[in-house]
Amino acid sequence: MRRLDCKKIVVATHNAGKLREIADLIGPYGFETESVTELGLLVPEETGTRFEENAYIKAFSAAKATGFPALSDDSGLEVDALNGAPGVYTADWAEQSDGTRDFFKAMEKIENALQKSDATEAVSRSGRFVSVICIAWPDDHAEYFRGEVEGTLVWPPRGNDGFGFDPIFQPEGYSRTFGEMTVHQKHGWKLGHKTALSHRARAFKHFAESLLENR
Ligand code: IMP
Repeated sequence: MRRLDCKKIVVATHNAGKLREIADLIGPYGFETESVTELGLLVPEETGTRFEENAYIKAFSAAKATGFPALSDDSGLEVDALNGAPGVYTADWAEQSDGTRDFFKAMEKIENALQKSDATEAVSRSGRFVSVICIAWPDDHAEYFRGEVEGTLVWPPRGNDGFGFDPIFQPEGYSRTFGEMTVHQKHGWKLGHKTALSHRARAFKHFAESLLENR
């Protein structure tokens, strides 16, 4: 595994919710971070069919453009009753005809698909959030870290914290949705902790243990 010998990491996302969570997770490690939004870089087209492929496309494009290691997150929601959909296409389910994203409509779309599949009881409404974090260097070297969290899809949506599909995702063993948790409760982890809760914090924990701690 390659050492991360740099002061600055570029965060390859234009998603404000992800950026807030990544900045919060990486903050204690003392890196300077700059997002592709702040740098005015365009998002490359996500043409992969796996989270790892899209995470690499985003991280490598930012690393190549800036000359710094770049970190990306490709994530999504897999619903068992929908054979794993929307999965890698999660962001597309929110896409409107004018190019904007509407997550309330996307949550309704999931609920309608669940109703169509007769998935009305909690046991048949299982799913997971998946996050793959990729760190890519300008010379094309890349490392990957995956995190997943199991849960139940609830309806109606609950809570105004978080972003995306957080209000309909209730992680296993909890009575609140991610939308009803603060960012720190959703991570369920901070530097030195042995366990993490969210998919992103679980992926980040692997990344931190492999590349950030004991540098
Ligand atoms: P992508 O990784 O840019 O392809 O987009 C992933 C999409 O999955 C986001 O736009 C969100 O809609 C959804 N998503 C990923 N992680 C989370 C999360 O932590 N909470 C809620 N929605 C998420």
